Amino acid sequence: MNYEQFFADKIAELEAEGRYRVFADIERQAGKFPKATVHAKNGESKEITVWCSNDYMGMGQNPVAVKAMRDTAQGYGVGAGGTRNISGTMHEHVLLEESLADLHDKESALIFQSGWVANLTTLSTVASMIPGCVIISDSKNHNSMIEGIRHSRAEKHIFRHNDLEDLENILKSIDPSRPKLIAFESVYSMEGDIGPIKGICDLADKYDAMTFIDEVHAVGLYGKRGGGVAEREGLMDRITIIQGTLAKGYGVIGGYIAGTKAMCDFVRSYGTGFIFSSSMPPAVAAAARANVNYMKEHNELRERHQERAATLKKRFQDAGLPVLISESHIVPVMVGDAVLCKQASDDLMALHNIYVQPINYPTVERGTERLRFTPTPHHTDALMDELVAALVEVWGRLGLKDAA
Ligand SMILES: *Cc1c(COP(=O)(O)O)cnc(C)c1O
Repeated sequence: MNYEQFFADKIAELEAEGRYRVFADIERQAGKFPKATVHAKNGESKEITVWCSNDYMGMGQNPVAVKAMRDTAQGYGVGAGGTRNISGTMHEHVLLEESLADLHDKESALIFQSGWVANLTTLSTVASMIPGCVIISDSKNHNSMIEGIRHSRAEKHIFRHNDLEDLENILKSIDPSRPKLIAFESVYSMEGDIGPIKGICDLADKYDAMTFIDEVHAVGLYGKRGGGVAEREGLMDRITIIQGTLAKGYGVIGGYIAGTKAMCDFVRSYGTGFIFSSSMPPAVAAAARANVNYMKEHNELRERHQERAATLKKRFQDAGLPVLISESHIVPVMVGDAVLCKQASDDLMALHNIYVQPINYPTVERGTERLRFTPTPHHTDALMDELVAALVEVWGRLGLKDAA
């Protein structure tokens, strides 16, 4: 077989469909977020405004966290030197887990190298080890949950996105004696809609199921202390497993779960993605903890964040752009064509110094390609003026669809 040809053909397929991914090579500038420098292939560079970061609050440049990372690296050195079991449990890991358990008002928490690994490991371990476990999963769940469910080899049912009636019909159809786990998200990152957490918890009680919530796009951002939508709605105690990331709202890297002592101890003891991978550098844990603690105390940041998102949605709407009026901080503008979506993104970067990545299949369904904006507390009115003017120019020139 001509292996090289195979690889090249698969890439050509993506290019033909307009969904070959090109990474923007950027250099963030601490203190100037959301400004960054973009490096072009030809060696040139220029300053741009980032409109698509998942560092939703700009916490990646929080001076308190930067200092914690620097000081801890100086104190501990840079790596942990092992898996958690073999010499790699640093005091900073223990402190971070305590802070996360406190955030969610749970007995325990367990950290992983990423939110993706936390989902994969936890779902696959729990669902494969509980005999006869059935997973009922929202149709829009993130890839990391889907992979975890697949690895568990447990029986799986998909319920229509956020549809409690469909969920209940599925629950009803399963033998009542079987163990069940309902897996869902709070904020869905591509539409910015929010799961019916209370309704799902009620059904879980009625049908004796466990609940697993992915609050990756909500931790740090919702709730009085940043505990997510479940905190905001007073539902944290009704969720069996709360999963989150330290890489988005908290601006660093790493993932975690929180729950009872026995559940976390179980995943710690049986989860291969936890056991067999070296632990995060202590300086990373320290920076993450600094931001988690900081955001527990700074609800005004969340208020400003919501205000910025609401303002941007209104500005887009007033300009006649096809914005999805979501109930969260995520602001999608629909294009509905992969090639045009990429063209719009390229033009915004080339002509207007605005960076927003095109979102194409398989991240979203074909025909629903979009630009996804994530305004932070650092995106000023002046930056919004520039953005709206740029979008109006690009929309007109490319003949993109206006709001219906
Ligand atoms: C990004 C993401 C993850 C993975 O988290 P990382 O910390 O980036 O690995 C999990 N779930 C959802 C919904 C995500 O969007």
